[in-house]
Amino acid sequence: MERTNEMSIEFDSRSCNEGFARVSVAAFCTQLNPTLEEVADVKTAVSEAITNAIIHGYENQVHKIRIECKAAGHELYLTVIDKGKGIADIKKAMEPLFTTRPEWNRSGMGFAFMEAFMDEVVVVSELGCGTEVHMKKTIGRKSHEFPE
Ligand code: ATP
Ligand code: MG
Repeated sequence: MERTNEMSIEFDSRSCNEGFARVSVAAFCTQLNPTLEEVADVKTAVSEAITNAIIHGYENQVHKIRIECKAAGHELYLTVIDKGKGIADIKKAMEPLFTTRPEWNRSGMGFAFMEAFMDEVVVVSELGCGTEVHMKKTIGRKSHEFPE
């Protein structure tokens, strides 16, 4: 059976917690032997999902954000969960340049970045209940490409 390792963190939806959450996920990733680029990709994806939870999910009210991480083989599974307002049309929300907040100077690129930097992004959301962003990325394979 494949060995898996899991961790989760829960924190207040304050932007000052973003750096801490990003670094925690990056630290968890190190067991997968990532390249610097892979760590940067994961940090960017986590940041985008957290920012979305703070500003869109909770509309800057302070509630809890939960991050669940799992390492299995070369795979990193990452889920960012909020219990905020939810997304009405997920397909539309994930289109590049789509934003419901142009007045806040959002560019509508968050999901596009998550999709660019992770191998898989699946969003589960219900209006009034919250949003889960499930992401997956193969990590560390590059460091094994050359025999030692
Ligand atoms: P940017 O990320 O470029 O600053 P953005 O946040 O508007 O802009 P995306 O991150 O791609 O762009 O998100 C697109 C839209 O999906 C948002 O404008 C918002 O309406 C909705 N959305 C995203 N995440 C959530 C969430 N956690 N809860 C509720 N709505 C969300
Ligand atoms: Mg965004």
